[in-house]
Amino acid sequence: MAQNIAVIRGDGIGPEIVEQALLVLNRVAERFGHEFTYTDVDMGGNAIDKWGDPLPQEMLQRCLDSDSVLLGAVGGPKWNDVPGPMRPEKGLLRLRAGMGVYSNNRPAKIWPQLASASPLKQEIVDKGIDFLIVRELIGGIYFGKHETVTENGEKVAIDELRYSEEEIRRIGRIGFETARKRGKRLCSVEKSNVLDSSRLWKKVMHELAAEYPDVALSDMLVDNCAMQIVRDPSQFDVIVTENMFGDILSDEASMITGSIGMIPSSSLGQTSRGLYEPIHGSAPDIAGKDVANPIGTILAAAMMLRYSFDMEKEADAIESAVSQVLDAGYRTRDILPADPTGCTLVGCQEMGRRIIENL
Ligand code: NAD
Repeated sequence: MAQNIAVIRGDGIGPEIVEQALLVLNRVAERFGHEFTYTDVDMGGNAIDKWGDPLPQEMLQRCLDSDSVLLGAVGGPKWNDVPGPMRPEKGLLRLRAGMGVYSNNRPAKIWPQLASASPLKQEIVDKGIDFLIVRELIGGIYFGKHETVTENGEKVAIDELRYSEEEIRRIGRIGFETARKRGKRLCSVEKSNVLDSSRLWKKVMHELAAEYPDVALSDMLVDNCAMQIVRDPSQFDVIVTENMFGDILSDEASMITGSIGMIPSSSLGQTSRGLYEPIHGSAPDIAGKDVANPIGTILAAAMMLRYSFDMEKEADAIESAVSQVLDAGYRTRDILPADPTGCTLVGCQEMGRRIIENL
């Protein structure tokens, strides 16, 4: 059966990097006997120019009618002065809310070929970095009541942090299911020594553990986790955590891998339909120059195959092709080491072509 993918090329480098990911998907379809069809969706600055709206309802509907959504990136200086609700990034927030994606999954993986780009000490990097953070995306303190009141003549700001058992259970399940597809180790991160919401979080995670006997569950306090990610990241397989802790830890985790152009992410909700994108933005400074690194988007397409379409070996094949191209020394400008001996500088299109050659 054909899988229909809604494709949001977006702004800046978005169209260039998405093009390479689609060529990779076409090669996967050919090699493994699948059919992928694509529906174009306008979102972001280009949608403002064309429709006067960063995400017209019809475009959201195209995403809701698809089997999954692949996104490049949106935004750029051209739309810096448009009013708040009409900004390109609002299209993305409306898309996430409209799709009901409550789980953001971000891998932190260091490619051995790029180990020198990590800010961590070599002996830590040599132990390997390959884990994934599952972050709750539409609950917690960012979505609680925010208010500023006056008490005894001074302003007091209050942000409410609440989680229901059901909100925790649904993200917990994604954590366990994800761990099941990887190394079967799940670390639940909270602050149960202080917060009630974290104590409930921990209780629900342990209840869920009974349903996943094949996954080893551990608990870690968030402050300790922030230290462990830089002390010994090799200990982690999958981390599951609430919205704000995940926001901070996932940025820390992407930093230790050394290159923003290499990291994909997925956002999932109740159904298998997900939103897949690289973690970087639209990089307007390099748009249209054929120098952008398409690997983050290509790996986002691989995540889509793994998590939305259950195509494990196809996803493995893409990741292995990326690894072989890095082994052969091909580098886009952003991942070219200071001493480029043994490396060949390539553009966006050639990087895509080399990956396809290895598929
Ligand atoms: P950015 O991630 O676009 O760029 C930061 C730096 O990284 C730039 O120097 C850029 O050239 C480089 N870079 C990013 N991706 C690269 C790639 N694939 N290959 C090579 N180099 C790459 O962040 P920014 O400059 O802060 O934001 C630019 C625009 O993107 C803004 O309008 C911002 O709002 C938007 N943005 C969109 C998303 C999204 O669509 N999900 C996410 C973040 C930022």
